[in-house]
Amino acid sequence: MNRSKTRILLDIEETPTHYVNILPHLDNPLPPPLNPATEEPIGPEALLALFPEECVKQEVAQEKRIKMPEEVREILIRSGRPTPLQRAVGLEQKLKTPCRIYFKREDVSPTGSHKLNTAIAQAYYAQREGIERLATETGAGQWGSAVALACSYFGMEAMIYMVRISYQQKQYRGMLMRTYGAEIVPSPSDRTEFGRKINREQPDHPGTLGIAISEALEDTLSNANTKYTLGSVLNFVLLHQTVIGQETMAQLASIEETPDVMIGCVGGGSNFAGMTYPFLAESRFRDCEYIAVEPEACPSLSKGQYKYDFGDTAGMTPKLKMHTLGADFVPPKIHAGGLRYHGVAPTISALAEEGRIKPCAFNQIEVLEAGALFAKTEGIIPAPESAHAIKATIDIALEAKKRNEERVIVFNLSGHGHFDMSAYSALLDGTLNSVSS
Ligand SMILES: *Cc1c(COP(=O)(O)O)cnc(C)c1O
Repeated sequence: MNRSKTRILLDIEETPTHYVNILPHLDNPLPPPLNPATEEPIGPEALLALFPEECVKQEVAQEKRIKMPEEVREILIRSGRPTPLQRAVGLEQKLKTPCRIYFKREDVSPTGSHKLNTAIAQAYYAQREGIERLATETGAGQWGSAVALACSYFGMEAMIYMVRISYQQKQYRGMLMRTYGAEIVPSPSDRTEFGRKINREQPDHPGTLGIAISEALEDTLSNANTKYTLGSVLNFVLLHQTVIGQETMAQLASIEETPDVMIGCVGGGSNFAGMTYPFLAESRFRDCEYIAVEPEACPSLSKGQYKYDFGDTAGMTPKLKMHTLGADFVPPKIHAGGLRYHGVAPTISALAEEGRIKPCAFNQIEVLEAGALFAKTEGIIPAPESAHAIKATIDIALEAKKRNEERVIVFNLSGHGHFDMSAYSALLDGTLNSVSS
């Protein structure tokens, strides 16, 4: 029977040709971004100084499906799409669970995570509008790596502000970005007024994503022919990631499986949305549970307030209605740098409010233990971010075992952890605690 397949592949021709837009599928219209000075809703025009026009259009689009440019699709294919869906047989056996566990392999991207899916699209739209340089921030470095490679593909310069603690911890990430041709500085940096101000006040500041975003925004607004590029949170970024869920849907259909639970880790929300939005958009998957997994050290969706807040620390962005721990919250220096963000995507917040997705949170010790178990049973070292999804998967599979329930669990393996070995090393040495690096 088909279900005995452990590696489910699609043909290249089955690579998605469209993106799936969640906006028309929300129960209530998404609250608009606000101008922080006037508290009035801002129109999409206000975003044009920062982002390519096509991305701004996508941000507010109401069509259910949006066509992917053929050039973008070609590069996605060259970069390894469609990615495999794999059955975690080794993990199932180890847990002795009656559940069937599948994971989507975004770790096979050349930069090691799902982030290239939107980096390629954003670089394409920017280059077509005559932009020569992209500025951005990066936490753990996966986004910076994706932007560096996408800029290289399209002959553009990449300027990357990398959160200082990650810059120090993940030096190989910096080297990877430089190999792709990007320029990279630790943030807070001396390149921007905001960075210099923070460095004067607190010279050993570890940096945060919020601060690095402020620096990249300042860079964009003060340099000609530069646009900003963002790796998560905004509607158009999540939209570009829906290739993940569309492929997963086709792969599950090919082996006649229907998911009972879908799981993803959540920083800003892009890999979770990419995996789940195509399913959330279809009423036939209404009975599926959608679980968003966060670090206990930065529980925006589980513990944050649902209110208007800035996306960055300097207060330069429009205010977004989202679950937030506060724009000035400095998350503990956990290894899952990609999850150290004070807020979460407005559409994820809205779906959580509607009760359609459920948040949960774990500490990094139990998370990395789950990651190490996955490495031993499946051979793949997961990114500490992705290991959050694995921890939730294991708990659900063990819970189902008690009731002898054969559930179909699908999680997104958002990236590999080859540049995160210091996290696993700390776990093995017994020096890991729940909040530090
Ligand atoms: C960036 C990143 C995340 C967190 O970002 P989301 O936008 O929430 O997906 C998770 N996993 C990996 C591997 C990442 O690179």
